[in-house]
Amino acid sequence: MQIFKEIQPLREHLRHRRSEGVSIGFVPTMGALHEGHLELIRATRGSAGHIVASIFVNPTQFNNPSDLEKYPRTLEKDIELLKTVSCDVLFAPEVAGMYEKPATIHFDFGQLDKVLEGKFRPGHFSGVATVVGKLFNIVEPDVAAFGQKDYQQLQVITRLVEELKFNIRLIPVPTLREPDGLAMSSRNTRLSPQQRKTAVVLHQSLASARQRLLDGTDWSSIQKDVQTTLSKIADVQLEYFELAHRNDLTSTLEFDKREGVILMACNVGPVRLIDNMLV
Ligand code: AMP
Repeated sequence: MQIFKEIQPLREHLRHRRSEGVSIGFVPTMGALHEGHLELIRATRGSAGHIVASIFVNPTQFNNPSDLEKYPRTLEKDIELLKTVSCDVLFAPEVAGMYEKPATIHFDFGQLDKVLEGKFRPGHFSGVATVVGKLFNIVEPDVAAFGQKDYQQLQVITRLVEELKFNIRLIPVPTLREPDGLAMSSRNTRLSPQQRKTAVVLHQSLASARQRLLDGTDWSSIQKDVQTTLSKIADVQLEYFELAHRNDLTSTLEFDKREGVILMACNVGPVRLIDNMLV
């Protein structure tokens, strides 16, 4: 695996590969890699001859400085993991290389970035779109994989690609989970053993809400019950638990529930976790 820290040498390398007729697959990440990330690389393999992963903890998408500071960084281990899935290239730039000057560009995705994560993390999706736009322009991939774990992010990137006419096919990848159901996340490493056990409530709440919805229970009762249940668990603080249409995340409930997605964000101890489940 070749490792690039600078933009220009990476561009030259990829230009060579492209001129040989090789298609480029791209998997952007913030590192602290786990099986979920590796699954994105595997999912890209069938559609691309040369796979580029990036590791960049993007400051402009963090609205909480302590979250940015505490974000796990495990580059040496990440490199070893990427080798196990035969990743061809790692792009791991410095902040100064990606942001020579402070970012002045801002994105507004209408309703899409005002609800759910956007409501609790103002500016987050503008930062995500900024860095993904930069990375797309640097790597110029044919395909790029994103996880459904970050469901709203996937919608934002889909909109970004459509509106800015990036010639990139997006590959959505289902969420990889631990055996007890907890969605794999780089942030899980920050949970204490007790909090790690508690964190299974995210998946349990989603699974039981989905079942009750399919059984005909109305959404507002389900939502209230989850809020009550979670409020009684020590170390758990629910931010939101919402049902939305899976295509555009509009909050109106006037749709067939089977087209819905349930999304939630929750603090477990000091760690903010998100998860979702298609109905
Ligand atoms: P991150 O490093 O958290 O920014 O994630 C990088 C990419 O990996 C994003 O497209 C995420 O949605 C995806 N991802 C993170 N966790 C998982 C998971 N458990 N299963 C599948 N994809 C994931």
